[in-house]
Amino acid sequence: MYKKLFYIFFLFILFSVISSGQVRVRIFANQKPSSASLTIAEGKYELDVYDGKSISLNAGDPVFLALYENKIAVKIRSSVSFMCDSLIVKGLTGNDRFYFRINSSTGERRIYSGDLQCISDLGVMVLINVCDPEQYIAGVVRTEGGPGKRPEYLKSQAVLARTFLYKHFDRHLIDGYNLCDNTHCQAYNGVCSDTLIVKATLETKGMVVLDRDSLLIISAFHSNCGGETSTSDFVWLSGHSYIKKVVDPYCINSPNAAWRKSIPINEWEKYLKKSGFAPAGPTPVSYNFSQLTRQNNYRIGSFSLPFGQIRNDLNLKSAFFSIVQEGNSITFRGRGYGHGVGLCQEGAMVMAARGFKYTDIIKFYYSDVIITDVNNAKIVKNDL
Ligand SMILES: [Zn+2]
Ligand SMILES: [Zn+2]
Repeated sequence: MYKKLFYIFFLFILFSVISSGQVRVRIFANQKPSSASLTIAEGKYELDVYDGKSISLNAGDPVFLALYENKIAVKIRSSVSFMCDSLIVKGLTGNDRFYFRINSSTGERRIYSGDLQCISDLGVMVLINVCDPEQYIAGVVRTEGGPGKRPEYLKSQAVLARTFLYKHFDRHLIDGYNLCDNTHCQAYNGVCSDTLIVKATLETKGMVVLDRDSLLIISAFHSNCGGETSTSDFVWLSGHSYIKKVVDPYCINSPNAAWRKSIPINEWEKYLKKSGFAPAGPTPVSYNFSQLTRQNNYRIGSFSLPFGQIRNDLNLKSAFFSIVQEGNSITFRGRGYGHGVGLCQEGAMVMAARGFKYTDIIKFYYSDVIITDVNNAKIVKNDL
């Protein structure tokens, strides 16, 4: 019964997001803004407070918001100021944009489309941008898409960002919004003015990636796989049919295909000891390890350590590396950049340059998937 109710609730939420055509993104989520300012960039706005007060805003007049004793202090022009618990700055024309910066007049100025909601929540200023999903997706592609500019590459990125949005639209629902704007969800710094990205987003409007059961996939991507993508030695991806090892001939001459890092051998020995390695006796140990294809664990005798853990602990670019002892130092000879799961961005850029369509690019990196409109997605989670 409970599961059924939850399922109905879940369906309802997705339906409401898609049909309302709006997404709620918490902005500056990993910062603690204590004040902010907003100015109209385009369109027409009014400021609504929840006691029914509504004030129209003039172009060029900044609105100042500040936290004060768990309330939001609002100042508009020099004449209007008041305190409230929450407010919404609402766009009225459907094509509205505002400039926004937090904390100081010298902070980075960003541009957002749609509305801004501001709530005081136990002494924290929560800022929510309510906007059109396609505008949000173009903004994500600008931030996360890397330097690739070919249309088919940008389309592949837009489809993955959209897949992520709808798969995770309930991630922060309990807090009153869909997604946050940092890498916990997807990095988003406001609207995108790059016309190529906006065009690629609109040309794939509504398109997402589904697995063979019509469920939205986990649209993982990374900068460069080093010639071979990683399978699910990551807990969060285990058992998904669409994550398979792909030998990637496209990325191997790209900027992030190879890397090298050396550390003194005593530092490496100290690290291994800390990780539980206890060599028996005075026999010299060889630390060399060749990783020609991706493997999960580094091994010396019976001791093993996951490459993923070494990567995290030593801040390496990838977990795909060989270890070579050279005199008094240890050299990591690495391939790729990032976790290696799913789409390889630098490989995808090369595919786009060679004439592949975005559908071919996505299907090269994800096995057995369908690219279709989000309305064809089955909204049942695996854990239901
Ligand atoms: Zn988040
Ligand atoms: Zn690759």
